[in-house]
Amino acid sequence: MLDHRKLGRELDIFHSDPLSGAGLPIWLPAGAAARHAVEEFLRSLEVRNGYQHVYSPPLGRAELFELSGHLGYFADDMFPPMKLSSDDELMLRPALCPHHCLVYLARGRSYRELPLRIAEIGGMYRSERSGVLGGLSRVRAIHLNDAHIFCSLADVGAEVASVLRLVDVAHAALGVRVSSVRLSLRGPGEKYVGSEESWAQAESLLRAALGSRSYVEAPGEAAFYGPKIDIQVRDVRGREWSLSTVQLDFDKPARFDLSYVDAGGARARPVMVHRSLVGSMERLFGYLIEEHGGAFPAWYAPLQLRVLPVSAASAGAAAAFAASAVEAGLRADVVAEGGSLGARVRDAAAAKVPYVAVIGDREAAAGAVALRVRGGRELPAMPMPDAIRLIDEAVAARSIDPVP
Ligand SMILES: [Zn+2]
Repeated sequence: MLDHRKLGRELDIFHSDPLSGAGLPIWLPAGAAARHAVEEFLRSLEVRNGYQHVYSPPLGRAELFELSGHLGYFADDMFPPMKLSSDDELMLRPALCPHHCLVYLARGRSYRELPLRIAEIGGMYRSERSGVLGGLSRVRAIHLNDAHIFCSLADVGAEVASVLRLVDVAHAALGVRVSSVRLSLRGPGEKYVGSEESWAQAESLLRAALGSRSYVEAPGEAAFYGPKIDIQVRDVRGREWSLSTVQLDFDKPARFDLSYVDAGGARARPVMVHRSLVGSMERLFGYLIEEHGGAFPAWYAPLQLRVLPVSAASAGAAAAFAASAVEAGLRADVVAEGGSLGARVRDAAAAKVPYVAVIGDREAAAGAVALRVRGGRELPAMPMPDAIRLIDEAVAARSIDPVP
């Protein structure tokens, strides 16, 4: 069975070290390069869809988490406070929402600014028991692709529909396969924050946003503060878990006393929508490593192109070709030594590099290159600039197939 811990080690994606601590993986250069490409993609997708990004600190005063309700409901999952003095305690945050509420409160808000979409790929910390930790799927340091949308209840339908569209775009680019969609609703006899009418309206807006997608309704599975949609994937062990989520919240806007001036000049309370397109970077990559067997689509492959000179005579041409690929923005290297050409081709295949360029004397003399595509396909020799253009186009299109 494919295990992301084993593959992650073989491909130099991440490292777990007892000195760092359980559930606190270190992203190695290959993993960091892939994650960086994915984060850039997510930020650009969000910016092009009206999100504004912020940076907020991964820890805050205990009072912040009292106000947010996390200390009341979530203390068991939080690390103990760091006491600085008798009246000053800092805590590692278990979620980004409290800081994003402070972003909202940083100045007065008018209805003209809504929907206000605040996004961040930010760190948060959960005090998971050491027995349940493993690889990237259960960690204590989590970097969540998070955003909070502050809007009127009337805007919720359009906002949720837009989030679901972005989830589809992100899944298609990353090569994520959805196993099921779940709409979590109120159940009988439980306590919920928010009025009966708000819940009824929110639930019908979520249903409408789901449109023709197939989904299951889960009565009683909603959080006490609002209904939600979870988009689930299945890992190689057959376990299902939520990757993407859209969650309504009637509670935090009241706790933080969030308001805006409406069109009539009166104070109104926004609704808050928590959403993540692809979950945390840790869980996402744990899933992607297994889903692709380590062979990531070229656009986020740690190394996109490996150049192999056949002999010392073509080493100069190989180095120049790799340099022009790097210049064009690709992640490329040259392996001139380390065994026969066949052995170096096998090493590149084991490293799951999507494109391998072989340059012999004939290619060097002609300024040409023969590309071997991951999976075994060999393309006819082509001029070097054409090879870079071919790779560049597949990367720019975020194609799953190396030769679209
Ligand atoms: Zn949140």
